[in-house]
Amino acid sequence: MLVIRHVRVGAIAENTYLVGCSETGEAVIVDPGGETARVAALREPGGFRVTRIMLTHGHFDHALGAADAKELFGAPISIHPGDRELYQALQEQVAMFGFDDPGPAPQIDHFLEDGETFQVGKQQGRVLHTPGHTQGSCCLFFAEAKVLITGDTLFAGSIGRTDLPGGDLAQIVMSLRERVLKVGDDVQFYPGHGPGGLVGDERTVNPYVGVRGRISVI
Ligand SMILES: [Zn+2]
Ligand SMILES: [Zn+2]
Repeated sequence: MLVIRHVRVGAIAENTYLVGCSETGEAVIVDPGGETARVAALREPGGFRVTRIMLTHGHFDHALGAADAKELFGAPISIHPGDRELYQALQEQVAMFGFDDPGPAPQIDHFLEDGETFQVGKQQGRVLHTPGHTQGSCCLFFAEAKVLITGDTLFAGSIGRTDLPGGDLAQIVMSLRERVLKVGDDVQFYPGHGPGGLVGDERTVNPYVGVRGRISVI
């Protein structure tokens, strides 16, 4: 069975997820945004072993804990190459928002590709490249469990901002319609901020993915 747990961390209340396989005890950590002791506590109950750290994109609120997590779990870091520069500019991003210098971002060990599959124990995940919030934004889809981790591409009733460097509103709307909605209405999504929900409900409540193609810029 796929196990999914989360904690909200950092000044921007970012959701860090543990996605694990209950049969093998393997897990990945998605978007380690800091407060690493609390993230580490997600391993219990069950004694999950973190074998991989995956970033949905390169914004600092999702990557601030990457160095601590890499050291603690001894696990490699994956991100899409479209966000390589953004991720490597972690210190500049943090300075722009006025927070303390976190030190340099740790080395990237693996670049995610659209359509790439990966195993979390007996569960299979797939990478969906969904640019628009940033150029390297990705969602992680677990088809059998009907789970989609959306990062800042989709929030309940909204989307991540597109006015930061690398953002593109038309592109994120395309990603939502062509990629995210196509996973199926009965898929549960888990966003980078705030509560999740059912993908199908977003067709009616989310102005960015509405079936009539309405776009309201808020
Ligand atoms: Zn973001
Ligand atoms: Zn975020």
